[in-house]
Amino acid sequence: MEKDCIFCKIVNGETPTKFLFENDTLVVFKDINPEAPTHLLIVPRKHIRCINNLTEEDREIVSEIVMTGRDMAKKEGISESGFKLLFNVEKGGGQVIFHLHLHLLGGWE
Ligand code: 5GP
Ligand code: ZN
Repeated sequence: MEKDCIFCKIVNGETPTKFLFENDTLVVFKDINPEAPTHLLIVPRKHIRCINNLTEEDREIVSEIVMTGRDMAKKEGISESGFKLLFNVEKGGGQVIFHLHLHLLGGWE
């Protein structure tokens, strides 16, 4: 748990947020400022700053995040129409919250 990290607070239940899915590794919730009809965030419980900071021991976490992106797309009914999975990396890559998260975007007409 990183002090002053918004996503650590959400993951640890300090900021009440409805989880669409959760397990021991990660949680899934709606983006507060959606950029698509479906915009979910898949967030590991472990505080990792961004893709650059992944270590060998994080391989399973990354796998779980991506597979959950696939599963949530199916649950949301956007698998067939199509969707985007996106990691923003560091400020130049558009990252604003420095706790690793995967964006699931879709549901366009
Ligand atoms: P980034 O640009 O870091 O990849 O994306 C961070 C995302 O988190 C943004 O799309 C933003 O709307 C979302 N976000 C920021 N703060 C909160 C929050 O407190 N709750 C939720 N649900 N989403 C948030
Ligand atoms: Zn964090």
